[in-house]
Amino acid sequence: MAFDGEPSFRQSVDLMFNRAVSVMDLSPGLEEKIRVCNSTYTVRFGVRLRGAIHTFTGYRSVHSEHMEPVKGGIRFATSVNQDEVEALAALMTYKCALVETPFGGSKGGLCIDPRDYEEHEMELITRRFAYELVKRDLINPAQNVPAPDMGTGEREMAWIVDQYKRMNTTDINGAACVTGKPLNAGGIAGRVEATGRGVQYALREFFRHPKDMEAAKLKGTLDGKRVIVQGLGNVGYHAALFLSSEDGCNITGIIERDGALVNPKGMSVQAVRDWLSEHGGVEGCPEGTYVADGAKVLEEECDILVPAALEGVINRANAGNIKAPLIIEAANGPITAGADEMLRVRGTVIIPDMYANAGGVTVSYFEWVKNLSHIRFGRMQRRQEEARHQILIDELERLSADKGLGWTLSPGFKDQYLRGAGELELVRSGLDDTMRAAYQSISELWKSRSDVSDMRMAAYIVAIDRVAKSYRSKGL
Ligand code: NAD
Repeated sequence: MAFDGEPSFRQSVDLMFNRAVSVMDLSPGLEEKIRVCNSTYTVRFGVRLRGAIHTFTGYRSVHSEHMEPVKGGIRFATSVNQDEVEALAALMTYKCALVETPFGGSKGGLCIDPRDYEEHEMELITRRFAYELVKRDLINPAQNVPAPDMGTGEREMAWIVDQYKRMNTTDINGAACVTGKPLNAGGIAGRVEATGRGVQYALREFFRHPKDMEAAKLKGTLDGKRVIVQGLGNVGYHAALFLSSEDGCNITGIIERDGALVNPKGMSVQAVRDWLSEHGGVEGCPEGTYVADGAKVLEEECDILVPAALEGVINRANAGNIKAPLIIEAANGPITAGADEMLRVRGTVIIPDMYANAGGVTVSYFEWVKNLSHIRFGRMQRRQEEARHQILIDELERLSADKGLGWTLSPGFKDQYLRGAGELELVRSGLDDTMRAAYQSISELWKSRSDVSDMRMAAYIVAIDRVAKSYRSKGL
């Protein structure tokens, strides 16, 4: 989405990249090599639907192959074009480097509005698109591994993995050709919630850094903070749900396609989501007051703004009116380079997309590893862990009885302590660890260098430095 006088999404990413490399010591050749998108494949294919042939246009961009496979979601939306896919592929390169998942960056998209088609039609279209990509190794467990993005989810990933397996019947690692699959098709517990969960973990880590909070003039904890979220899809719904139900945030604004809901007392995210699923929009939902011009609600007073829908929604036209002191970019590219500059000058703290929404690719990495190892996480050790804990409990109880100490364990402690970690607990723990480590690398750089003015710049520097090291060690 380009606005008057504003750079395109890809140009925005390049401008942000250029800001970061201006304070790094990279040779111009290497800088250029990292910045450019290696390749973009465009495919136009026909599918016979409703008695006629319909032609669709799809893309798969590979931004950087410094590590393989390359990784990145597939988006189904009418806004999909080469510029957008290349920008998103570049962000994937930096995101993977930042959270240390061993992948290069890629992204795909199909120019389509999925709401225009029946489920069986979507299956035909998705399978045909997957066929075109598999044929060229643009879907392949060792080379290019897609995942869900806007407009796609578990359902599409299940069709894609099945299509790959039909075309590669002897590939024992076929399930690893795509991530974000349903559990019964080789998926992993916690993948659907992962990106929203990562947004929650990112905010929790931010609130553990008093100096960073000071920069946003925020105090206390997440409890009671007013949050406005744009987009109640996969990412926005999970982020808002966890922040309200587990951290005590008040969701005071929810912006969707057809308008927004506002309620200073906070809303039930689940109730709004149920309404949205049933009615296709938020209008009429009793949780809040309906505002027809949804985008205006981005400008409302709040503590944390969570754009979780599309790119370019905060641009030069509205950046001057944004009141939130903290913005966490749950979507990719929601703030244009122009708006980014305006907000920086005003002191708004922005937790950048490449970090904020990296929960998805992190858990996708766990899923890929699970598929290659052909075993569910926790399967070997869970009961053994429980048995070891039981030994300790037995010993404590024996000591108490033998010595007449009368110790009793607190209610619930025994159950909690005895329970060995299952896949979901392990996935969440791995995700939390990843989000904390990546945050600390960004924050440390941001706070220690006077020439690094903001978190986005710091995140780019950490990521680019890692990609550069990888290229250098390969002899480039
Ligand atoms: P989704 O399709 O599940 O949800 C998008 C939501 O935004 C939908 O509810 C849609 O109705 C709403 N929306 C669309 N246009 C809108 C508008 N103009 N105003 C307000 N709301 C609007 O998509 P998603 O998977 O949640 O992805 C959202 C963003 O997060 C994208 O930028 C995507 O690239 C990014 N992201 C997603 C993942 C993932 O795991 N799904 C991972 C990383 C980043």
